[in-house]
Amino acid sequence: MTEKPQILYVEDDPSSATLVQRVLGAEGYNVTVVTDGMAALEMGQRMQPVLVLMDINISGMDGYEVTTRLRAFDHIKDVPIVAVTAAALRGDRERALIAGCSGYIPKPIDIDRFPEQVQEFIGGMREEVESEEKKSEYLVEYSRRLVERLEEKIRELQQAHEDLQHLERMKSDFVILAGHELRTPLTVIYGYNQLLLTMPDIPGAVDEEGSPRYLISQVAEATKRLSQVVEDILNVTLIDANKLDLKIVPIEINTMVESVIKNLTSLDAGRSLEFVFDNLENLPPLRVDSQRIYQVLWNVISNSVKYTPDGGTITLSGRVLEDTVHLTIKDTGIGIDPQERDRIFDRFYVLENTSLHRTSKTAFKGGGMGLGLTVARGIVEAHGGKIWVESEGRDEEKLPGSTFHILLPLPT
Ligand code: ADP
Repeated sequence: MTEKPQILYVEDDPSSATLVQRVLGAEGYNVTVVTDGMAALEMGQRMQPVLVLMDINISGMDGYEVTTRLRAFDHIKDVPIVAVTAAALRGDRERALIAGCSGYIPKPIDIDRFPEQVQEFIGGMREEVESEEKKSEYLVEYSRRLVERLEEKIRELQQAHEDLQHLERMKSDFVILAGHELRTPLTVIYGYNQLLLTMPDIPGAVDEEGSPRYLISQVAEATKRLSQVVEDILNVTLIDANKLDLKIVPIEINTMVESVIKNLTSLDAGRSLEFVFDNLENLPPLRVDSQRIYQVLWNVISNSVKYTPDGGTITLSGRVLEDTVHLTIKDTGIGIDPQERDRIFDRFYVLENTSLHRTSKTAFKGGGMGLGLTVARGIVEAHGGKIWVESEGRDEEKLPGSTFHILLPLPT
């Protein structure tokens, strides 16, 4: 069985499309209809038609432009493209020919003559603009029109871009405001809970499940976790909006790392991991935003805890390298695949299956929102530093581990 010859028909009016499909279908053609210019270019790339019928007045790219573009495809270069249009203004035929059409059939289509007209074009008939003079006149007009349309499109794009930026600003202003609004009551709840815990007449013990003291400590812990989520959301928004202002103070990195580990291990319900410190006590003081660098260390170290099974080791080292401090956080965990090494620093990027999500900061493979490393990178870079990860790959059996590197500049 031989395949039917293909005709591509660019037409946004369904009744014309149906009519032509019926008439030419009866003549043994297979008519594919597309309704706009972009679809025509896509289809034109995939099929080998014997003829293209082109409605000129389509939305988006018009028929002239689509024709010019189709002519650039090697396999369509010599295929007849016939303009079919109702707007029979003076010069329309010439414009179509200049754009690359082989001829012109005015609408409404004369059903009786149509198959014959189509056959003539397929058979090799080509119309031409009468004189060279007219040709160059229309060519100039066509070029000018194209540039005008281009200008109009650029203007539209610029406007759309501005609107999007405005929307983005409104969104980040809202998130920043909401973050600040949430932060205050959370601090109050956490503070009052801590205060309650200092009162000797609160019965029970922190580890006595069900006792008032235990319940209060659970509320305090949950509040702290919630604050950290709010802090991550706030930070990522501030970083995106370039609004992260740093409160620079001198810090001892050693003390800060110890405090992160102390707070993490107080949450680590039954995890057994070894922490090794290497040379941190010999590092010179840094000048950084203390709260934010704490957050960086917290995010990176809590990840090492999350992705290292029990019995593993997390080694924290520091060296002075020229005018920077080079910190490494090395774990003996599941590791990270090479293709994920950059992506894990992207917003909302989580490798774990989110249906197994557990919002624990310390449980093995406990999930997060995928903001931790984005925030860490934003904060480190705002300090003029760098953060990256090295790992041989991910293997939950062999546990190749990951090493996070953080470079922070020394005060000048
Ligand atoms: P989350 O808040 O979900 O932990 P992060 O931005 O902190 O998000 O981390 C992104 C992803 O990078 C994690 O979901 C995890 O798959 C991977 N990842 C981060 N740190 C480690 C690590 N030390 N070992 C293995 N995978 C890690």
